[in-house]
Amino acid sequence: MSRIESLDRRASRDEPPPDGPEPDTRRTVAVVGGGITGLVAARRLADSGAKVALFERGSSVGGQLAAVTVAGRQIDVGAESLFTAAPGPLKLIEELGLHDDLIAANPATTWIQTRRGLRALPAGFTPAGPTRLWPVARAGVLSPRGLLRAGLEPLLPATATDGDISVGDYLDSRFGRQVTDRLLDPLLGGLHSGDVRRLSLAAATPQLAALAVKHRSLLLRRRPPARSGPAFVTLRGGMRSLTDHLAAMLGDVEVHLETQVTALRRIDGRTQLTLEGGRHLNVDGVVLATPAHAAAQVVREVSPAAAAELEGLRAASVAVAAFAYPASAAEVPAISQGSGLLVPSSHGDLLKAATFLSTKWSHHSDAEVVFIRASAGRIDDDRARHLDDTELITRLDGELRAATGMTEAPTDVAIRRWPVTMPQREVGHRQRLTTITRTLADDLPGVTVAGAPYDGPGLASCLRSAEQAAAQVATTLERSA
Ligand SMILES: Cc1cc2nc3c(=O)[nH]c(=O)nc-3n(C[C@H](O)[C@H](O)[C@H](O)COP(=O)(O)OP(=O)(O)OC[C@H]3O[C@@H](n4cnc5c(N)ncnc54)[C@H](O)[C@@H]3O)c2cc1C
Repeated sequence: MSRIESLDRRASRDEPPPDGPEPDTRRTVAVVGGGITGLVAARRLADSGAKVALFERGSSVGGQLAAVTVAGRQIDVGAESLFTAAPGPLKLIEELGLHDDLIAANPATTWIQTRRGLRALPAGFTPAGPTRLWPVARAGVLSPRGLLRAGLEPLLPATATDGDISVGDYLDSRFGRQVTDRLLDPLLGGLHSGDVRRLSLAAATPQLAALAVKHRSLLLRRRPPARSGPAFVTLRGGMRSLTDHLAAMLGDVEVHLETQVTALRRIDGRTQLTLEGGRHLNVDGVVLATPAHAAAQVVREVSPAAAAELEGLRAASVAVAAFAYPASAAEVPAISQGSGLLVPSSHGDLLKAATFLSTKWSHHSDAEVVFIRASAGRIDDDRARHLDDTELITRLDGELRAATGMTEAPTDVAIRRWPVTMPQREVGHRQRLTTITRTLADDLPGVTVAGAPYDGPGLASCLRSAEQAAAQVATTLERSA
């Protein structure tokens, strides 16, 4: 008997108990997707007393936490750092005993690419816009006219945000288009590989949306004191060590690798999973922790309405190249003084952003090699996708050298593509989520979606989403017991 069949038997409450040991009467839950969201949901559900099986179509768990080897070093090509303001990831690191592996980012400049070369990102400029005008004025990124327009912000009436508007449209109305195009686009647009004039104010920048309701002017509001401590941290063994440790500490959760879930059905009050190859498994609850388009495929037969909404959640295709350059590259001022650079979409480059890993992280500082990670790909810009690896690497290397003034050629490089991966929480996102949740509750009770496509790509959002999904499924199981 396979492990999957045994899970179904032990959990089936309709069968008479077999002779021998006590039957396992726990309710069964399937978690689909072995990224960080699926792993955390599985751990929490197992802790709540459910019998859990996790299905991952790839050959290992981790999803978007992934690394490649370049010049003998493991370099993250998915998530690379954690923002410390949200407590969730740090709590999980503590829980997994990885606290001693935390490394704080070295303080260094974040560069913005402009027509006149690199300029420092103004202090206090966040993915939700400027908090102070003086650093923006000094940065030399805006024209005098653009600066004058930005300076009018405190005099303007409040901007109406009801019905959801884009973050870009909101900042246009407060500070003028230059702030949006030259600062918000490379920072927030770069983080999401998105179009800031389509990203939802309410869903992609909820804190800014709350401020917009509460304060007439963003610049005149009383700001909270600056937090102490590093804003970004990583793990010495790479971000992938987070999911490797989670997987190793899953207890009796059954992990099925190279097992794609292809469909869900409702059978006798339970949910039936169809696995690739045609095998079936009946369970009491399901957490779908996959990309939205994969979730759409799985629920389409039973809930075409939910599938249509899930397909409306767009995602950008991105690629990350990890370069090793000779040590002399560290003498280039842009690299020795900077943690990385951001490129506005209006610039027209393929290069979207670069992280100077050897400057940013102490564990990547090396006497012989300078490690740099470069990324390409934005929503509605598929140029990188249509280039083969060699062409893409040549373009990214060329644009990096042009931006930084570095003349060295790379000694090693590896590339990782992420097709249709970076979720876009666009205007109307929350409404779409409500429809998905309601439709699934009607068509597939006990089935819930979780992860980056719904609650945002940051790891803190994924963890929150996983915890909420696990709690929701556990409550449904309790109610139906
Ligand atoms: C290039 C890049 C850089 C990033 N940088 C950062 C960063 O610095 N900091 C940060 O906080 N976040 C970052 N992120 C975002 C973050 O990594 C992701 O949001 C997060 O890892 C998503 O986790 P997840 O579990 O929701 O999804 P995923 O990691 O995508 O996992 C989903 C899993 O589901 C599996 N799957 C899909 N369909 C099926 C099926 N039918 N059956 C079974 N399995 C299936 C997939 O194989 C995959 O393993 C980055 C992402 C990328 C791509």
